[in-house]
Amino acid sequence: VSTVEETIQAPQESYELTLFVSGASDLSSRAIAEAKQLCEDHVAGRYHLSVVDVHGDTSALRSSGVLATPTLIKYLPLPVRHLVGDLSKADWSSLSEGAHGGDSAEPSTFQTAAGSRMHSPKQQLFPIDHHSPDPFDVMGGRRQSLTPKSADQIRMEEMEEMLRAIGAGEVDGFVVTDNGGAQQVFTMVTADHPFRMFVESMRDGAATVSSTGLILFANQPLAHMLRCPRETLVGLPLSAFIPGGGAGRSHALLAPGKVGVTVELELLSVDGAAVPVRVGSAGLDLDGDHLTCLTFTDLSVQRSQDREIATLGKSQADQLSHLRMAQAALIDQATHDPLTGLSNRVVLVDRIDRALAQSERSGACTAVLFVDLDEFKHVNDTQGHAAGDSLLRNVADTLVAAVRSMDTVARIGGDEFVVLAPGVDTEAHAVEIGNHLLRAFSEMRDNEGGVGISASIGISVSVGGRGTAEILLQEADKAMYQVKSNGGGHAGLFDVALRDQLEERLSAQSVLQSALDERRIVAYFQPIVDLSDGMVTGFEALARLIDFDGSIRAPATFIPIAEDTRLVVPLGGQMLAMACGHPSTWDLTSHARQPLTVAVNVSGRQFESGELPSIVQNVLDETALAAAQLHLELVETSIIDLHPDTLRQLRLIRELGVEIGLDDFGTGYASLTHLRRLPLSFVKIDRSFVDGIDTDRGDERIVSAVIDLAANLGLRSIAEGVETPYQLEHLRKLGCDQAQGYLFAKPLSPSDVRCYVPPSFW
Ligand code: C2E
Ligand code: CA
Ligand code: CA
Repeated sequence: VSTVEETIQAPQESYELTLFVSGASDLSSRAIAEAKQLCEDHVAGRYHLSVVDVHGDTSALRSSGVLATPTLIKYLPLPVRHLVGDLSKADWSSLSEGAHGGDSAEPSTFQTAAGSRMHSPKQQLFPIDHHSPDPFDVMGGRRQSLTPKSADQIRMEEMEEMLRAIGAGEVDGFVVTDNGGAQQVFTMVTADHPFRMFVESMRDGAATVSSTGLILFANQPLAHMLRCPRETLVGLPLSAFIPGGGAGRSHALLAPGKVGVTVELELLSVDGAAVPVRVGSAGLDLDGDHLTCLTFTDLSVQRSQDREIATLGKSQADQLSHLRMAQAALIDQATHDPLTGLSNRVVLVDRIDRALAQSERSGACTAVLFVDLDEFKHVNDTQGHAAGDSLLRNVADTLVAAVRSMDTVARIGGDEFVVLAPGVDTEAHAVEIGNHLLRAFSEMRDNEGGVGISASIGISVSVGGRGTAEILLQEADKAMYQVKSNGGGHAGLFDVALRDQLEERLSAQSVLQSALDERRIVAYFQPIVDLSDGMVTGFEALARLIDFDGSIRAPATFIPIAEDTRLVVPLGGQMLAMACGHPSTWDLTSHARQPLTVAVNVSGRQFESGELPSIVQNVLDETALAAAQLHLELVETSIIDLHPDTLRQLRLIRELGVEIGLDDFGTGYASLTHLRRLPLSFVKIDRSFVDGIDTDRGDERIVSAVIDLAANLGLRSIAEGVETPYQLEHLRKLGCDQAQGYLFAKPLSPSDVRCYVPPSFW
């Protein structure tokens, strides 16, 4: 705020001020209000105040009424008065054409920046999604919400959405009208984003200098320090701003060998003032050019702040340092895990991405190690949370002590830590680091002198910048999981086999998703036969996936993935609707009991939304199927830890008149209590027991016991997987009610169902 005051004291026509705050706090709101008041008092009508929240949280700002969004400030030259969204396609292209002639498009901040990566303006002005040349289509058909509005009316989310679209590379730019109603096209070169955002938002001066010492690019803070518009700066020799023997010093600074050094010197601003700066340099090879990137920290600011503090009364100085501490604490909170002080996931992802960008240039490897403590839950459960917390802090300290200084240690979940090790040589090196961590853990001692702990470490290595932070984390997680399932206590690499597995899973998921979208999941029907007379009582609907080549895939190839990814919910819905539509087309009058029933498999996940009863009701209404004709089969395992809401839904469904049965009975652990509480009508005896009926006395006894149990509970028993006449005979003798199996028919396509005639054993 004091800088605001300072700035508006210098007489100028208008003022553009950007206030950086950290977090949505009272402190921020007060600072914003103060700054606004200052401007109103002294330069009313001639200023534009923007607020950037360095945390990206805009909630405080919304209520402050100041137009602000961190992304916006970084992308747009201000002030922006209108965002125009109702241009037609034709407008857009004519505007683009006119614009790169140079008159309607003011050079944006980005276009003026030099550098060989920049595209010509012409290239920038078209949306890059060529499939959809209308930029507003690209933004998800949100045309309506993009009609012209004044800046204060624009919803923050809309801007964020547009900026997100640019950031994601979905559009290449958009159009804004400025105060005078003139339209401008703003564009971005997406490849440069992170770099540009960073450079544009930093407080320090930054410049790129050619190998011959010419300034190719300068950011706004540097232009400010030198009191020279940056358009003018570009193309000038840097030495022009270094007084006296400066040419020599700047030359020394820029000499290739000197890259990486930090020097303090004085810059000479255009109006003759000496600006003390600390200069840092780094080399940058861009398309064969050896460039130097320089940063300039203005030491006079720091010095005047120190002076300021020195001249303030003690209480004020205390207050000020208090404020600074509070600010530091705020920034710390948003980036660190409060328990261990380690970086959090946000910081980690950023660091990984940066490490990847670097290894893309250098060709080096980046390793991500996912560390999960073995048995942490046990510590928490048996010794309490305080002990758990202390263990986690201990682990954090151990990790930090064990890694190299350039590595990052982060905590991203309860007992999940991640180590980012940039610049490793080989995969073997990464494993070595993992083993080193494990040794450190085994030597760890807690306060009570307890022994070391064991952990599972999964490692993913990117060679030459392959992948993204999310991919590496996912891979390392997967590798860790693999280590865990092999007993834990060691470090394992995410290898080709695992990669294949992961890719397979992802592709299986997308295959299934598209099959669902394209209605290529169909129902086959297997008859269920009454054992007293051999009549067909109904059919079980079984899912099949029709592949692109017309081949039919069995559920074993997609149901597990569907369960894993929750796609089983839409799949179950489609199956239910399909199955209920069929019975009215069946007319097997002579061998079938009327009305025929249809049994549909239901996954435990279908209860999660709480809507299953109404879904069932709707399907019955739409297909005009009598409720009593519908049977639902639940897998026993899905009701092991029976949720009260699942029970509620089952009761509602039963009240509709739909019958509910337990599938694969005998393979799970459904307790008798469950059996009694559930509104069941039948159980299906698992095929594995039926299979052994003729060979295995144990199986025979189980089948017999299950049939008796079902009878005692008043439930129908249905034997699955009946393949031989002997099995059939046996089941009949044991008093089983119904049967299903290849002996009668394999699951049939809907057209085969209509001409189905059961074999006669009666
Ligand atoms: P399930 O519900 O236990 O279905 C019975 C399975 O046994 C079916 O396999 C059926 O083709 C097979 N089968 C029937 N008789 C015999 C026999 O005599 N011998 C042998 N060897 N097998 C027999 P399918 O169609 O491959 O389905 C496998 C499983 O996939 C089903 O087991 C069920 O758990 C699941 N599933 C199928 N459709 C759906 C569905 O729409 N939703 C859900 N959630 N799961 C489904
Ligand atoms: Ca079933
Ligand atoms: Ca079954």
